[in-house]
Amino acid sequence: MSKKFIIGNLKMNGSIAFYNELFTNLKEQLRSIDPNNVDIGLCLPYPYLFLAKNSLSNTNIKWGSQNVAKDKRGAFTGEVSAEMILEFESKYVIIGHSERNTAYCESDQNIAEKFLRVKENGMCPVLCVGETLIEREAGMEKKVVRSQLETLIEKHGTNIFENSIIAYEPIWAIGSDMAASPDQAQNMCAFIKEFIGGNLGSKTGQKTLKKLIKVIYGGSVNDKNALQLLSLEDVDGALIGRCSLDAKKFSDICHSAHRN
Ligand code: PEP
Repeated sequence: MSKKFIIGNLKMNGSIAFYNELFTNLKEQLRSIDPNNVDIGLCLPYPYLFLAKNSLSNTNIKWGSQNVAKDKRGAFTGEVSAEMILEFESKYVIIGHSERNTAYCESDQNIAEKFLRVKENGMCPVLCVGETLIEREAGMEKKVVRSQLETLIEKHGTNIFENSIIAYEPIWAIGSDMAASPDQAQNMCAFIKEFIGGNLGSKTGQKTLKKLIKVIYGGSVNDKNALQLLSLEDVDGALIGRCSLDAKKFSDICHSAHRN
């Protein structure tokens, strides 16, 4: 059984009272999950990282942010650096989520810079890649995902993906109640591993990296479809949007991962 990664993306939701309650419920409901089998992370709005540090330290739940600045420090009004995120003992940072790419015109170059900042600070990037519905209908989904990964490989080399997470999030499946089919999810997650592994020279290197690259699926995962999606060979976990706002649903998904 390989370790699964269940990461919540809380987006711009919640309040101090909401997070206090969510953390209390999750600590209780996830108590029996062995962190060697399932790695659980909650990616929060920045102001609540301090709460997570206070409430979740010494539990099996980790936390992090949903974005990071591409620069290290300085005159960048409104930005939050990787160093600052790390001060709150964060483990995960989501990068390149499609909602940011659309609303804030995030480029692949920016995403590559952000990825590096997260790695330099010893945290784990959760890089989102995925195609639009039009691109899938045109049969271009692999081409699109490959080009998203290529910018990173060109800038930093393939080894940058070691100990990182790639989240395959087809844009049409996010917030839509139309999750990818098991075939679609398995196919793309396997493709991502093969593509990154194939960019490495030696066979041993490929094998090792393939083991170290974690590819998770995101897009309308819920407590009903999680077990099936998480049992797919090349799906190493899930990125959860809406269901991470509900302690019971999120913990049911984590327990499904535990059973795989
Ligand atoms: C997301 O926004 O990353 C996501 C997966 O959302 P949802 O689970 O709500 O589709």
